[in-house]
Amino acid sequence: MLSMLSRLNIIESSPPRSVEEITHTAQVTMKITLIISLVTIFVTLVRPMVSELPEIFTFLGVLNASIFLALWAAFKRGYWESYSPIILAVMINLILLPMVVISGGIDSQYTPVVTVLPFGLMLIGTFHSALGTIIFWSFAWIALYFWQPTNLDLSFSPWQEGKLASQVFWLIGSSAVAMAVSLQFENIKRRQQKSLLALAEHDSLTGVYNRRGMERVLNTELLLCDRTQQKLTVMIVDVDNFKLYNDINGHPAGDKILATVANTLSKNTRAGQDTVTRFGGEEFVIILRDTDEQSAAIAAEKFRSQVEALNIPYENDKPTPLTVTLGFYSTTGKGETQSHIINQADKALYHGKVNGRNQAINAETIIA
Ligand code: GH3
Ligand code: MG
Ligand code: MG
Repeated sequence: MLSMLSRLNIIESSPPRSVEEITHTAQVTMKITLIISLVTIFVTLVRPMVSELPEIFTFLGVLNASIFLALWAAFKRGYWESYSPIILAVMINLILLPMVVISGGIDSQYTPVVTVLPFGLMLIGTFHSALGTIIFWSFAWIALYFWQPTNLDLSFSPWQEGKLASQVFWLIGSSAVAMAVSLQFENIKRRQQKSLLALAEHDSLTGVYNRRGMERVLNTELLLCDRTQQKLTVMIVDVDNFKLYNDINGHPAGDKILATVANTLSKNTRAGQDTVTRFGGEEFVIILRDTDEQSAAIAAEKFRSQVEALNIPYENDKPTPLTVTLGFYSTTGKGETQSHIINQADKALYHGKVNGRNQAINAETIIA
């Protein structure tokens, strides 16, 4: 059925569900179960104050609310995690059908609840239970139409007035549940967008921001500079002779080194202020907030010496360790584009390479 709808372009085909997605769906189902029990408790307690219906409806309301509360408690303890949406769907339908039958069928005060069911179930991602619910109730409504169980309508005259008021309560209650479920859906969407954005901005090998992330962070930091009038420093860190390292030790070993270098750089930055990013290949860009040339020179020397101190040999029997060369540019960013700033740092880096590598160069000193 799913693939047919997907072929008709009615729904998008989706990859298999991940463990996190199952856990998340279970959490949303748990919350919705609680919302349903709270709404049931509320309507059951408040409705008798304004309208008269036989006591059986209050009794059944309490019973149903207790069932949903028990279900919620079980979900909260982690029971049936993978099946909780289906269990909730089946439970709602099993409780609702007899309630509808004993309260006037199509004319029941619970009718509006049925209309929000498929919508709510679909939002917690259980297409099959939503579809099953629609089919189940389609048959139920048709059957109730032909076989009106008026003799079973416990809410029938002389309680018509009370029933009308009860209908108002359930109309409001089901709208409230629909609203609460939609809010949950909005939360899911936001969370997914956030994690997708984080994925799109991070480098999978080193775990630091990738170039896209770097561009966004640099943009934000430049705006901040403009407000605070403080300088920021952009630093390019390039691993020395990395091609040689790969040639001797192999690409997978080179990958590990890149992750180690990224980690060393990150550990030596100020949390929440500086950002380490992978610019591409074996080059990293570090954005240092509120950092002028003097502070940048100190930071650069720290990065350089910390990488050297890792003591990673190119060849096992040769003591020369792996090093990095750094080029940096400090600016208030006024009238400068991102690419201009990066170019300045890159020029400084180039000078460091020509000068013999394993050193940090300030762009100002080569422009002058
Ligand atoms: P220099 O000191 O002048 O920077 O020399 P270099 O060898 O580091 O520079 P070059 O630009 O000649 O080579 C960069 C090397 O970085 C070549 C490439 O194989 C390696 N590299 C780039 N990205 C990756 C990666 O993701 N993993 C690994 N293992 N190596 C990479
Ligand atoms: Mg390079
Ligand atoms: Mg290099």
